[in-house]
Amino acid sequence: MTVGIIGGSGVYEALDLEGEATRYVETPFGEPSGRLTVGELAGEEVVFLPRHGRNHTLDPTEVPYRANVHALKQVGVERVLATNAVGSLREDLPPRTLVLPDQYFDRTKHRPMSFFGDGVVAHLSMAEPYCPHVREHLHSCADATDAEVVDGGTYVCIEGPQFSTRAESEFYRANDWDVIGMTTVPEANLAREAELCYAPLTGVTDYDVWREQSVTLSEVQKHAAANESAINAVLERAIRDLPDERDCDCGSALAGAVTTPPEAIPVETRKPLELLVGDYLNEAGADGL
Ligand SMILES: [Zn+2]
Repeated sequence: MTVGIIGGSGVYEALDLEGEATRYVETPFGEPSGRLTVGELAGEEVVFLPRHGRNHTLDPTEVPYRANVHALKQVGVERVLATNAVGSLREDLPPRTLVLPDQYFDRTKHRPMSFFGDGVVAHLSMAEPYCPHVREHLHSCADATDAEVVDGGTYVCIEGPQFSTRAESEFYRANDWDVIGMTTVPEANLAREAELCYAPLTGVTDYDVWREQSVTLSEVQKHAAANESAINAVLERAIRDLPDERDCDCGSALAGAVTTPPEAIPVETRKPLELLVGDYLNEAGADGL
């Protein structure tokens, strides 16, 4: 079972992997954020990808989310552990707290949300946007480290790259949402479409502007760097103790989700989707979707 790690702000290097090698992967959806680092940890194959590029050159709108998820799928990843730097919308979630969100609220505006379209329509459930099995596993592994991890919460995903206004921040708080960031959407959506388990481990870097005069990059970076060691400790434990089998429905998320009959899907649309949905479409040729 191959595990993928998508490193967010402050997490640019892979864990200490044995037999570390670099892989360049091309996808029908363009180039991923950077080369993949592949290696082993406790006998598990691990693939690491820095979301913003190794030198942090891609802003949250520019991150090639589809290429990233497709690249991980191509190299055999089945479960993705994502890390994200977030602001806190709650007094009791100070900087350097780790949070395992269980919901998101999407406020992004300019991102391709799906691998589908262009003649093929798929509707998937996002009622539970993150894999419950992986979330639970991350939580139990956090207990075994020194990290303080809060289980559950709603991640408000804004477009960025600017931080939010005070009015926006107050609005999110009035809805009882918990943390704010710029990257879980559409990464979670695309992972679901690719039938990958996916869960974010977020690290609080600031209190957002409801409590502070302003959010400064230097403050965010200082706490993000401090969060890295706690996040890596949880990730390492999570990989070491990962159950062999997936105990969730993520691996069949596309079953019954494609609305378009296979014969109506244009060939040029079908080709780039082969890795994701080929088996279903081929089966459907005989059985119907
Ligand atoms: Zn899952």
